[in-house]
Amino acid sequence: MPPWPNPLHQAGLRRLNISLDSLHPDTFRKITGRDRWQRVWDGILTAAAVGFAPLKLNVVVIPGVNDQEVPALAALTLDRPWHVRFIEFMPIGNETLFGEKGWVDSATLRQQLQDQFGLAPAHCPGNGPADVFSLAGAQGTVGFISQMSECFCDRCNRLRLSADGWLRPCLLNEVGQQNLKALLRGGATPATLRETVSALLTNKTDIHFKNRDRGGDRYTRTMARIGG
Ligand code: SF4
Repeated sequence: MPPWPNPLHQAGLRRLNISLDSLHPDTFRKITGRDRWQRVWDGILTAAAVGFAPLKLNVVVIPGVNDQEVPALAALTLDRPWHVRFIEFMPIGNETLFGEKGWVDSATLRQQLQDQFGLAPAHCPGNGPADVFSLAGAQGTVGFISQMSECFCDRCNRLRLSADGWLRPCLLNEVGQQNLKALLRGGATPATLRETVSALLTNKTDIHFKNRDRGGDRYTRTMARIGG
């Protein structure tokens, strides 16, 4: 049981993914457009104290912006049972946000951490498409999500729920997306909701970033509006 009542924990929520792209408030503001580093960090500490687990911290690595922080972010896992996941930057509607800097491939980051800390294969509950390792002697893990340098659509079981209630089958495919918010507000039964989600999952197709042109206009929202 958590040390104090938490409504989300009481409602049954256990796993949390939180974006933390930097340990520096200035860089955080540059990436997110919000001056909220301290608030996010305090939230992470609170989530850990309440006992949410696994607690995953997502880091989108952008060359020249936060790539130099990768070792420090990975080191958060040394004495905390947290799961830090490094994600290759996907230019979905945000190609020009940071200039023409592109992305850093996971293999380069993995080698960097291997050289500095030593890495061993590890496991994180619900790790999805991440390749997971632990630094030598660490309590937590580091994961690499390599959707730009590798294609893992064939093992992706994820659906995406936007903040305004649309459930879509994939980051790059909104064909068949369902408005769960409208269903809920319209009084849909749990059985109907379950059938809707199940049908969407059944119809989920593979579409890798490299093949996005083949998908034509399968998506219209930028990454920030998807919640990816
Ligand atoms: S492109 Fe879609 S199917 Fe492929 S990994 Fe991303 S969300 Fe999953």
